[in-house]
Amino acid sequence: MSQASGYIDSYYQATGHQLPLQPELDSEITADVCIIGGGMTGFNAAIELRKRGYDVVILEANRIAWGASGRNGGMCLVGYCLGLHEVDEAFGPDWGKKLWDLSCESLDIVRDRIREFSIDCDLQQNCIELAIKPSHVKELKAYQDLMESHYDYDGISWWDRDKIREVTSSDRYIGGLFDPNSAHIHPHNYTVGLARAAMNLGVRIYENSAATKIVQGWPNRINTAKGSVKARQVLLACNAYIDGLHKKAENKVLPIISYIGVTEPLGDRQPITNKMAMSDLNNCLDYFRPTADGRILFGGVNHPFNGEHPDTRERLRQRMLKVFPQLDDVKMEYHWGGLFSATREYMPHIDHLGNDIYTAHGYTGHGVSLTNIAGRVVAEAMAGTAERFDVFSKIRHKWIPTPKILRKPALAMAIWKAELQDRLGS
Ligand SMILES: Cc1cc2nc3c(=O)[nH]c(=O)nc-3n(C[C@H](O)[C@H](O)[C@H](O)COP(=O)(O)OP(=O)(O)OC[C@H]3O[C@@H](n4cnc5c(N)ncnc54)[C@H](O)[C@@H]3O)c2cc1C
Repeated sequence: MSQASGYIDSYYQATGHQLPLQPELDSEITADVCIIGGGMTGFNAAIELRKRGYDVVILEANRIAWGASGRNGGMCLVGYCLGLHEVDEAFGPDWGKKLWDLSCESLDIVRDRIREFSIDCDLQQNCIELAIKPSHVKELKAYQDLMESHYDYDGISWWDRDKIREVTSSDRYIGGLFDPNSAHIHPHNYTVGLARAAMNLGVRIYENSAATKIVQGWPNRINTAKGSVKARQVLLACNAYIDGLHKKAENKVLPIISYIGVTEPLGDRQPITNKMAMSDLNNCLDYFRPTADGRILFGGVNHPFNGEHPDTRERLRQRMLKVFPQLDDVKMEYHWGGLFSATREYMPHIDHLGNDIYTAHGYTGHGVSLTNIAGRVVAEAMAGTAERFDVFSKIRHKWIPTPKILRKPALAMAIWKAELQDRLGS
């Protein structure tokens, strides 16, 4: 952590935009809505609510975009962590279609916000999901069939090995499903852009102001170390950093720490020539993309909870070399980690917890896009129209049953098992 800035050291910090430090809350204030968490979820909801005329306060325990929103891979993807067939199976085709349409709207919101607020965040269209083994090809082709037949999703196309090799110089992949609608961004700059837009609309933001307790009542009162907010409605937008603030929300998500590395600038050695982002289909997947300044950002090493392995940077580099062996002499200039929240259903947990307290988290690796629609449907529900919110809130999320102390070894076992399946499966 860089003491001066309050942020961790990362490529995004080195290349990102900054906002002036916002004040710490040190008095008793009132608002219509108090949002806890200054990341993509919080700012999306704040913008939607402010546009409807609500008086909104955001409390952020650290700095704006300090959490996953300022640390992630920037892959802005259509759909959910749960595959399309499983969505259909679990929820039925009609509900599945509504979920799908909302995920497409997420991507539209990202592009709209970038345009509306002139957010400079290196938006780049085009992503491809890559097959390493025949079972992946089968899965991706079935996915393509379903997207085209049932979801009216045009524009995707199948790429064979040669075509992939042509634009990536990588021999690792035997096929892939190309999607020109999905995209990638500089997520820190996107979040800072949202925060600036929210401020300009009149949202009050307090940094270094952790909510320590929610005293439920009419209105609710949210305490911080030096002040409090009285607000009728509350949104928990805390992701995996929620840590005891609200048990009903916390017990539906598992925090998982994920790592990213960024190489030194590659100049004319950049292997990805068409600027697209890529991810494979393994359980413990690799994802990677070129950055705007010509490096490769490579993510995919996960650990249960905090506690970095001493060899994380080298593990990231070794995984990158499996894809791009020609980059053996290239330095991994940055690496960092952050928490994301996963649910047992692999679907986001967007819900009303009672007493006008809402939560939106558990995007399970798809938050760069889904935080945008989450903010919108939560704002709609707070304003009295919960139809689209209910498409999410009616998903029955199971509790994470494992006691906190046993979660780390249980998760370590699950990650190990998933890695083994990746290696052994055909
Ligand atoms: C390394 C990594 C890579 C990822 N890559 C991708 C990717 O490529 N694509 C993708 O779609 N998703 C990815 N994700 C997930 C994605 O980043 C998240 O889903 C998304 O950023 C969640 O946004 P958020 O606003 O809900 O949470 P966050 O951005 O984590 O914000 C939550 C904020 O709440 C604050 N907070 C918590 N408790 C309190 C409190 N009591 N009081 C006040 N504030 C509090 C925290 O300080 C934090 O700033 C990745 C995540 C990680 C960690």
